[in-house]
Amino acid sequence: MLWLAISLFFVWCAYREIRSSLVAPPGYDDPQPITKPYLAMVIALALAFAWPPVHRWYFEHYLSRIATDLAEGRNAKVHCNTVWDTMLDTQMLAAGHAVISTGEIGLQHPWCSTLQSYLHHPQRASEEELWSLGMLTHESMHVRGEANEARTECQAVQRNYRTAKLLGVADAVAKKNALDYYNNLYQQRAVSGIMQAAYYSAQCAPGKEWDEHLADSSWGP
Ligand SMILES: [Zn+2]
Repeated sequence: MLWLAISLFFVWCAYREIRSSLVAPPGYDDPQPITKPYLAMVIALALAFAWPPVHRWYFEHYLSRIATDLAEGRNAKVHCNTVWDTMLDTQMLAAGHAVISTGEIGLQHPWCSTLQSYLHHPQRASEEELWSLGMLTHESMHVRGEANEARTECQAVQRNYRTAKLLGVADAVAKKNALDYYNNLYQQRAVSGIMQAAYYSAQCAPGKEWDEHLADSSWGP
């Protein structure tokens, strides 16, 4: 909101400059000619300050559509937290969180940016970027109706391939990213302490109890 407020200030400056060319400003007898460099500068500043929030809103809507798809029709609403949102978030320590009843998904700063970085170069995704992909799928699985963390994460690992494809990643790269997540990041959860273990189950494997045998499973053929 701060950025938009600054943008609106520059919009007001532009309005004032244009208006003074049409109506004599206070203290003048006649309208004043427009100072073009000044007008160009304030318009450029208005656009520059409006861009980050507008871009964030666009990305949130885009992610909301994908999360709704993953949640199989249950309405998901993704919110990319700014630094301020994150500081004020009661679940600040969770990188992402979802409310099953409302479909609201919150991704902490800077995870939406990390996801954007992933989309710029999915073929050389870093571990962090793969986490951001998995986080979107994971929170969408909560919205789909699962509350248990281990089951939620298992549903997510089987759908990371689907998520990557929905995000526009090429098929072979999407498959590799999803498998890298499952083979590396997911398996690390088993040995990374009690917090991470809550997200892991040995039953989450091809042919095991939690395998949903999805036609487009991350670990499918
Ligand atoms: Zn969760």
